[in-house]
Order: sequence, then C-alpha cells, then structure tokens
Amino acid sequence: MSTPLLIPCPYCNGLNRIPAERLGETPHCGRCKAVVLPAAPITLTQGNFASQLKGDLPLLVDVWASWCGPCRAFAPVFEQAATQLQGRCRLGKLDSEAAPQLAAQLAIRSIPSLLLFKGGAEAARLSGALSLPQLLGWLRQQGL
Ligand SMILES: [Zn+2]
Repeated sequence: MSTPLLIPCPYCNGLNRIPAERLGETPHCGRCKAVVLPAAPITLTQGNFASQLKGDLPLLVDVWASWCGPCRAFAPVFEQAATQLQGRCRLGKLDSEAAPQLAAQLAIRSIPSLLLFKGGAEAARLSGALSLPQLLGWLRQQGL
C-alpha cells in the first residue's frame, strides 16, 4: 500500500488520509461523510481558503465575479475540467466580490484569473478565459 494522500474535505475542511489507489473510488470524508473529491468545482471562501490549500493534491482556483461576461463563459469549461481532472487536481471557484480581502491578498488584477497552488504555494497563474484544450494544455505544462 502506498503512502496515503492528505486531502481536505470541501464541506467540513477536515483532512482525510486517502490511499492513492483509492482516489478513483469516490472516497468519503471520515468526519462528515461528504464526497471528498467531487467531480465539480468546490466553492472557496475567505473562511475555507486556508484549509482548502492544505493537502497533497494541487488546487486550481478560478477567480471570478458574477458581472464578468468572460467569467460566465469560462464556467462550463472549468466544470468540464473538474470532471477530467478528478483525483489528480482539485478545482475551486473563488467569487472575488464575496471575498474582496482574499482577492486583494492574492493580488488579483483581472478576472477571470486562474491560480494553481501546489503544496499550499502558488505555482502558476494565468489571466483570461481559456478553452478546455487550452486549459488542459496549460496544466500539462505545469506537470499535471
Ligand atoms: Zn467532511
């Protein structure tokens, strides 16, 4: 058996230990029983961001706002990416208007912005909406 991966629950923020070979088996949170790796983007907030940055899987963050047309156009692409990357990368959406302090802390200057975190630290960032092949291509360049 391989070393288990630490993965935060998107609902209760509890850290789960999940063996790598079981990532594809829809693991559930030991604390709240929610699905730990949903096939859809999770919602990031000021309150859960620090907790969700933890763990061994990379976290890809889509910083968006409801008034932003390109953000809305990009949303379905991001959802599709969440399905394709399930078990390899976690995807989360951060509403910059709901979390202005966090957006400022992350130095967000334009939206949509994509931020890739590895080991809790920012590894790459990109501004502007992408197509799904562009997004997956960019992530491949980042080693995903
Ligand atoms: Zn939980």
